[in-house]
Amino acid sequence: MKVDNWILKQAETAPGRLAVDDGNTQLTFLELKQQVSQLAGQLKAASVLDGDRVGIMTKNSLLGYLMAMAVLGSGKTIVWINWRLSDDEIHRQLSDSEPAACLVADDLFRESFDQRFITFSTITDQAAVQITLVPEFRSQEVASIMYTSGTTGRPKGVMQTFGNHLASATASAFNLGVMPGDEWLCSVPIFHISGFSIMMRGLIYGMAVRLVGHFNAELIDYVLKHEPISTISVVPYMLKQLLKYRTADNTPYQANFQRMLLGGGPIDRQTLQQCRQLQVPVVQSYGMTETCSQIIALNSADADKRIGSVGKPLFLTQLTLSQVNQEVLIKTPALTPGYLNRQAAFQDKLNDTGWYRTGDVGHFDDDGFLYIDGRLDDMIISGGENIFPDEVEAVYVNRSDIGEIAVVGQDDAKWGQVPVAFVVSDAPLDQVDLITYGRQKLAHYKVPTRFIRIDKLPTNVSGKVQRFKLKQLL
Ligand code: ATP
Ligand code: MG
Repeated sequence: MKVDNWILKQAETAPGRLAVDDGNTQLTFLELKQQVSQLAGQLKAASVLDGDRVGIMTKNSLLGYLMAMAVLGSGKTIVWINWRLSDDEIHRQLSDSEPAACLVADDLFRESFDQRFITFSTITDQAAVQITLVPEFRSQEVASIMYTSGTTGRPKGVMQTFGNHLASATASAFNLGVMPGDEWLCSVPIFHISGFSIMMRGLIYGMAVRLVGHFNAELIDYVLKHEPISTISVVPYMLKQLLKYRTADNTPYQANFQRMLLGGGPIDRQTLQQCRQLQVPVVQSYGMTETCSQIIALNSADADKRIGSVGKPLFLTQLTLSQVNQEVLIKTPALTPGYLNRQAAFQDKLNDTGWYRTGDVGHFDDDGFLYIDGRLDDMIISGGENIFPDEVEAVYVNRSDIGEIAVVGQDDAKWGQVPVAFVVSDAPLDQVDLITYGRQKLAHYKVPTRFIRIDKLPTNVSGKVQRFKLKQLL
């Protein structure tokens, strides 16, 4: 067989196997190939394939999934656009990536969009022209461009090659295993690496992807209890919501259920302990857009003993900590070749021996399991001691007078920096009481010196707090 386009490959080797299911429609890998070929012909007819790149803006719909596959199958690069962005942000990402067109799901079309945006129905209304899908996906070729969340500054366009996706999917398979009949539920957005990596694993493993339009805990709880889902990817917020439903009634998840793959941000120990009590298997993982999703993960066997750890590097990933500042450094074939149009910014993140600086700080336990302490940019150095906002916030977050809290460093003549807290709250803030409380639970230098009321914490569209914006308020 000469083909190594993964869509064609699966249609040849596993034609009758389930490829994708959105709850209404199920497509086998053979049907996937047929639908993708048809769509590719329609994309060509609409001149969408004239350039090297095609933008896509969609929720997790079957048509969005098929559009993405059609772009890849035609040998073009997907530029993923997050539909929650403002017009300005979308404009900036499209000016940066310059796709020939941006395909947009009909329900996401905005009046402000110009002729560059083409709705899905415009494509599906076209008469298809004849087109042959590319015979192979080359490992050096860029499959997708995806902008980072912008938690620490301006989003960067990460180029993800087919080789990166293959390395990532392979490493995940060696950790979690792949079984016939596996089905991965994808309710995390496909325009983020958490979601798109599920689509790519589906294609590489010949595994079914169960698409869910958006995260709705009640619906997903139902699906997990009634459909043969083996894995679901979740971020901390989703996990907490799902636990509420899991506790509400005693129906277990389907027998096929293996695990929740958790990543994307820090999680508190209390939630992990609750998962243990409820016998919900959780695999903690760590990764980023630049590494095509998880590169470090805990396996199920260790999960109980290593609460709070993100585990050990997956196959092919090397991990070390900087001796200077404990920054997490990695080498992995899943690492992006760089940021689009910002090669210098990417080079800055490689140290002189080729390690990629993740920007996160961590530590190992005695057995070499990694724990993420927080982001280097967020770390506060006060009188020579390091303070991580997450640890301080976790102490306060359960108080009734604290709605939300974010801690940042303020310059200080004596200590270099001191921690201060921004708080969203309806209740009056008693500074003395808050400080006394903190001192009972934390080393004194970690306790915020001030609690500042704010209406709303600045967050990016993924819901992560942008502490750099809070610092600008000081
Ligand atoms: P930007 O790079 O634009 O500031 P971002 O880093 O938030 O945005 P992503 O690539 O979506 O964009 O997120 C990756 C980051 O998320 C990691 O660098 C890390 O800080 C955090 N993260 C991911 N998994 C975990 C985890 N298990 N525990 C703690 N933090 C995590
Ligand atoms: Mg980042």
